[in-house]
Amino acid sequence: MPDRRDPKVVIVGAGLGGLAAAIELGKHGFTDVTILERASGLGGTWFHNAYPGSACDVASQLYSYSFAQRRDWARLCSPQDEILRYLHEVAHDHGVDRLVVPNTVVSSCRWDDSRRWTVASDDGRTWDADAVVLATGQLHQPAYPSIEGRDEFEGHSFHSAEWDHGYDLCGKRVAVVGTGASAVQFVPEIAPQVERLLVFQRTGNWFLPRKNRPYPALVRAVIRYVPGVQTFRRGFFYRYGELLTLMIRHPRTVGRLGQARSALFMRWQLRDREVRRKVWPDYTFGCKRVLFSSYFLRALQRPNVELVTDAITRLKPHSIVTAEGAEHEVDCVIYGTGFRTNDFMFPMEITGAEGRTLREAWSDGARAYLGISIPGFPSLFLMYGPNTNTSGGSLIVYEEAQAAYIRQALEHVRDRAAAAIDVRPEVEETTDRQVQARFAGTAWTGCDSWYRTETGRIVANWPGYMREYEKRLRVLDPSDFDFVQLPDRSPVAA
Ligand code: NAP
Repeated sequence: MPDRRDPKVVIVGAGLGGLAAAIELGKHGFTDVTILERASGLGGTWFHNAYPGSACDVASQLYSYSFAQRRDWARLCSPQDEILRYLHEVAHDHGVDRLVVPNTVVSSCRWDDSRRWTVASDDGRTWDADAVVLATGQLHQPAYPSIEGRDEFEGHSFHSAEWDHGYDLCGKRVAVVGTGASAVQFVPEIAPQVERLLVFQRTGNWFLPRKNRPYPALVRAVIRYVPGVQTFRRGFFYRYGELLTLMIRHPRTVGRLGQARSALFMRWQLRDREVRRKVWPDYTFGCKRVLFSSYFLRALQRPNVELVTDAITRLKPHSIVTAEGAEHEVDCVIYGTGFRTNDFMFPMEITGAEGRTLREAWSDGARAYLGISIPGFPSLFLMYGPNTNTSGGSLIVYEEAQAAYIRQALEHVRDRAAAAIDVRPEVEETTDRQVQARFAGTAWTGCDSWYRTETGRIVANWPGYMREYEKRLRVLDPSDFDFVQLPDRSPVAA
């Protein structure tokens, strides 16, 4: 029988969440931790999303672990390579980089009669575990649009999250499909290189400014050497994120201020009336993700760039055809069409107690207690799970809270000499109802977005503030859970 005093934990995903979980567990004496990672290196989203201009649009003081603050960020929002380097350094400093098993695509997790999990990869390797942390997040499976003839296109094409750095865009006729947070970062970068750029927009967006120039030497020195400045700035950006959430939660009052600020900025940037008309969003500020860029709208007004709002109806071998019958010849199509967010960890097969699959449990949409625990799936924990995305603030705040909560759950299991911890169905049900009810009247309900399923249920976002989520997760209440006894043991008290 394995030694359950030091439970064996398998973490799936070596991104921000998986690393946070491994570090938290390591700090609290859990030594048997393995991180399985699909990619050839750690970093998650910051490993994959290496498109030109890729950067975070949250200030680095907040978009970094609270326990690994840096005073030497070169600019407000760090580019992809700096964030990836930071993650490598933090993982190394905490000794979790050596726990990563790269090039491992987990295909299934199965709970069995021995009251343990068996995790299998698609190449036939297996790991047994007392607990599994699925830290695959919401934004890891590129979504390609189902456009007729997409496979017939004979030019070059790729997704923003799978950027082909070997393909030279210089002098090419390029189409970009999508105008989300990724596209607004790479369009201004590639626009000066290409001969012609067609940007296909399905829905307009609200924008706020973001220049992100390198800090002047004096500012860098002040942040670095003046005591308290770093802490003050982190607190400031935390509150700024909460303010955005406040605006989204109250679209008819304070939200109007955000919309007015955005409208002023966009009006100022969009000198070209035709482009302005096409770009202008027809939904409430904050319903979709607000985009931060001082360069995208300007790039759309370059002479070699055209914004196309006519829907794409099909791809031909060398062109894109739109609903109005226009045919645009292009050499390359770049899909900035986002991710299969509602799929979470699928197509991974997850089988919990009594042979029930997660697909069955989630037949009406993804849901989990505090985004972490699913009834009937003992000691299976999610990070950045359902209803834990944020439209204001930093995901790292959420992921640190989740890591500490999961660590507490495993401590309770260990202290009770139990096999596993399983959230009570009625607790999950009640919390889910409360979470969904809190979306009423907010901007999130006013349009289609990747936050929602086809039925309109919001499965991506937390409906409130970062501070609420942190508070809710600070202390795990064991009475919310059942403890699964070890085989041949009497029941375990909560
Ligand atoms: P996204 O926000 O989901 O945007 C996808 C874009 O593709 C949207 O404009 C969408 O239009 C369009 N689209 C999808 N299918 C289409 C079709 N069939 N025809 C035409 N257009 C189509 O994806 P993303 O830009 O990759 O960003 C995903 C998320 O990653 C963001 O929301 C954000 O949370 C995160 N991200 C963060 C940062 C950061 O700096 N922190 C940077 C990049 C990404 P509709 O709007 O009409 O659906």
